[in-house]
Amino acid sequence: MAGERPVAGERPVAGGVRAVPSEQLRTMLDEAAPALPPAPPPGTPVPERPAPRPAAPARPTTAERPPLPPTPVDGSPAADRAPAAGGPDREPERVSLIRKHPKRRPGGPQVLGVNCKNEHFNDPRAHYCAVCGISMLQLTLSPFHGPRPPLGVLLLDDGQTVPLEVDHLIGRRPERAPEVAEGRAHPLRMTDAEESISRRHVLVRLEEWQVNVVDLGSANGTAIRAPGAADFVRLPADTPVELAPGAAVRVGLTRTFRFESNRKV
Ligand SMILES: [Zn+2]
Repeated sequence: MAGERPVAGERPVAGGVRAVPSEQLRTMLDEAAPALPPAPPPGTPVPERPAPRPAAPARPTTAERPPLPPTPVDGSPAADRAPAAGGPDREPERVSLIRKHPKRRPGGPQVLGVNCKNEHFNDPRAHYCAVCGISMLQLTLSPFHGPRPPLGVLLLDDGQTVPLEVDHLIGRRPERAPEVAEGRAHPLRMTDAEESISRRHVLVRLEEWQVNVVDLGSANGTAIRAPGAADFVRLPADTPVELAPGAAVRVGLTRTFRFESNRKV
C-alpha cells in the first residue's frame, strides 16, 4: 500500500510524518484513502467544518500549539515517558510510515488509521482525536496500519462494563456458539428470568472502526434504540446494523445494554 512505502530521499523519523513535504503527504493520503472527500477549493462554504486555510503551514505555528505538558523532574522528554495509566486506552507505540510490521497487540487487528498531533491512533474520518480531543482538521494526515484501540464499551443493565476490543457473542449459552469455539468472538453470557434470551442471541461485531450488532435469528429478537430516540426498533435477523455511541440494545424481552464511546465521526 502506498502509505507504507518509503518516500524516496526521505529518512524515517520517529513519528514518521513530519519530515515529509506536505505535497507528497497529500499525494500519499489521496492514494491511501480514496474514500476521503477531496479538499474543497478555498472559499467554499463547508457545513460543520471551519473553512480550510489555503496556505496552512505543514507545522503549526507557536500560537496554535497546545501548551507543553510539564517537564518531569528527571528531565526526560515527555514523549519518552510511559503514559500515566496502562489501561486499554494507552498511547499506541510510534509507527513510522515505512514500518511494515508494527507489533500486534493480542487480539487487536490492524486497521488503517491516522495519528493526531499527539500520536494517538484514530479513525481517518474523525474530526477530533478520541483520546485527547484535539482537532484533526488542520493536520496533514497520513494513514497507516496500526493496532486498533478499543472502540468503546458496552454498559450492561446489571452494571457490567465490557471494553470493545474484539467481537462479543451474547446469549444464554454463548460458550457453545461456533463463533466462540472458533475463537472469532468472546462469549458474553446474558440471562433473564423469562428465559427470553436465546443461547446464541446477538453478535457485537467490530468492522474496522465501526461497531455493528447482528441478531442471530433469536427467538425473541434484538431491538435497538438510537441515541435520543424514544422507542426500540426490532432488528431484522442476520443483518448487521451500526451502533452509534449512546445507542441502547434490548436483548430478548427485558435485558439491555448501551454502547458508549468517545469516538465520534
Ligand atoms: Zn490525540
